[in-house]
Amino acid sequence: MTGPPSFPGLTFSMPAPNSMPRGASSRPEDGCWASPHGGPPSPRLRPAPMPALMRWTGRKGSVGGTSAGGLFKKSWGGTASPGLSGRKRGGLRRSVVPFLYDMPLFRPPSEAESLIFQVTLGCGHNQCAFCSMYRSKTYTVRSLDALECEIRTAAIAWPDAHRVFLADGDAFRLPTDHLLKILSFLRDAFPSLARVSCYATPGDILRKSEDELAALRAAKLSLLYVGLESGDPETVRRAAKGASPEAAGRAVNRAQAAGLKVSATIILGLAGRVRAREHAWATAVMINKAPPVYLSALCLMLTPEREGPFRARFDNTFEPQDDEGLLGELELMLETLNPPRPVIFRSNHASNALALAGTLPRDRDRLLAEVRAARAEGEVRPVVSRRL
Ligand code: SF4
Repeated sequence: MTGPPSFPGLTFSMPAPNSMPRGASSRPEDGCWASPHGGPPSPRLRPAPMPALMRWTGRKGSVGGTSAGGLFKKSWGGTASPGLSGRKRGGLRRSVVPFLYDMPLFRPPSEAESLIFQVTLGCGHNQCAFCSMYRSKTYTVRSLDALECEIRTAAIAWPDAHRVFLADGDAFRLPTDHLLKILSFLRDAFPSLARVSCYATPGDILRKSEDELAALRAAKLSLLYVGLESGDPETVRRAAKGASPEAAGRAVNRAQAAGLKVSATIILGLAGRVRAREHAWATAVMINKAPPVYLSALCLMLTPEREGPFRARFDNTFEPQDDEGLLGELELMLETLNPPRPVIFRSNHASNALALAGTLPRDRDRLLAEVRAARAEGEVRPVVSRRL
């Protein structure tokens, strides 16, 4: 997926045994994290940095990357919370202390304006060799009672919220009836609700029936962020993605046939130098067979703790791509991409050497010209300005 990071520590009630998703754990103390009377019950909890709050206080510019953890200007210090003063501003009640997040918290860049609720903690797969997002968390299902409380609390402060992102890494793994219940809480609490999104793995999608997917879409879940990463079976196997490219393509088509939009990511450099051509070509072929509505190309960036395990998955023969190699992959991919439906393509993630934006196949020639010009002139984004 949509890959993000991880966390533990609070109040949760045990879901019914037959509703526990594969790989999930539960906590004995899951409860509402809305905290009207004091600080967080765990040092890992932080006040929710709601996007609307950021906007009101003029701190929108502090949002960066995919880690929502960067939103905080100060940590919890008792009953006060950032930006909340007990006054009314813009017609909204600002005396409500926000609920808490179990950090770290990740969201897609395009969810910067969304209200975020942690319906799970961590990632149910949590094994992708390149991903460090949720390594510090055990996958945990948060209780419906706790979520209902948080959603109602948030609705007092942000009644006009119209976009919601369900965190953590793998919310779509939740049983369908559990997700439908959360969606009903959201619709009841936010009359202007227009879009609910979450991360999903191909396996999550394929485990749900067509009727279940349609029911979730009808309940206002409308966008899934899916990490495809590569169309090359060997690269996907070594990266421990947990689903073959064929299965991933089926998942994309299945979700979109039910009316859910898919925003997919692929990772340049994931196969290293040796398998770069196979990776680039097979990824484009996969996209041609299963075109998502949105497609983002990221560049491989490993945290120091993932370097060793990642290289071990590649028999310690992995050679990282340089900028020239990454642009070569991008060029080959674009030459091969010819999706039968429009795909909104971006390579403007903070990790990228070259920012591209266009719609495929319509803008393919222009995008190719931009890549070739960058290769010829060596004009890429400075390495120091790239980050996860
Ligand atoms: S599915 Fe893989 S990439 Fe996504 S959050 Fe889980 S471990 Fe990370």
